[in-house]
Amino acid sequence: MRKQIFMVEDESDILELLQPKLESAGYACKGFSTAQPMLQLLQQVIPDLILLDLMLPDMDGMEACKRLKSNPATESIPVIMLTARTDIEDKIMGLEYGADDYITKPFDAKELLARINAVLRRSSWESSKNVLSITPDFVIDFNRYEVHIYNKRADLTLTEFKILQLLTKRPGWVYNRSQILDYLWGTDKVVIERTVDVHIRNLREKLGDFSGMIANIRGVGYRFQTSQEEELG
Ligand code: CA
Repeated sequence: MRKQIFMVEDESDILELLQPKLESAGYACKGFSTAQPMLQLLQQVIPDLILLDLMLPDMDGMEACKRLKSNPATESIPVIMLTARTDIEDKIMGLEYGADDYITKPFDAKELLARINAVLRRSSWESSKNVLSITPDFVIDFNRYEVHIYNKRADLTLTEFKILQLLTKRPGWVYNRSQILDYLWGTDKVVIERTVDVHIRNLREKLGDFSGMIANIRGVGYRFQTSQEEELG
């Protein structure tokens, strides 16, 4: 399967020039002229890499980078910043916000492809470790968005997966419903808190023998626990 790249660049001539070059190098490339629609699509599609222009009309590229690096669902996507600024401080800032690399304009397609290949090689090496075995029979693969129960892939929706991802980040920690909603959809979307219960119910069903690891703490919220006897709900 072709690796997917999201490219955010408001200068349409750069986008139009690079997109076909990335495609002919074997990547599937989706272009955006602003950051917001790309961040939106990330809720459904996780690309292998993001090329992010620094100066964008709707949002600073660093702000966009900060947002996706502070969300556990998107934090492991490698980001290469495209910047016209040569100021060293900006480069340092970009890397502080979690960008994996940066490239200064003007650059040619060859140079960009070399950076992309290098970053992807590095990330696939790092991501091979991103698998959580809760027990040998309950394994979560955060890169593939897969859960395996007794070596069989459980058919989780993206929402269910993200809830599991959040809860397993801090085992024993209780998340209330509004925290779970914020994590799933951000604070700007109005969703009733009951929705969380429905997703959790479906998730627990799919976890089968391990459903008890997701505990309902009455009146508070939910937590992930590795000992099933602790169930309080
Ligand atoms: Ca720009």
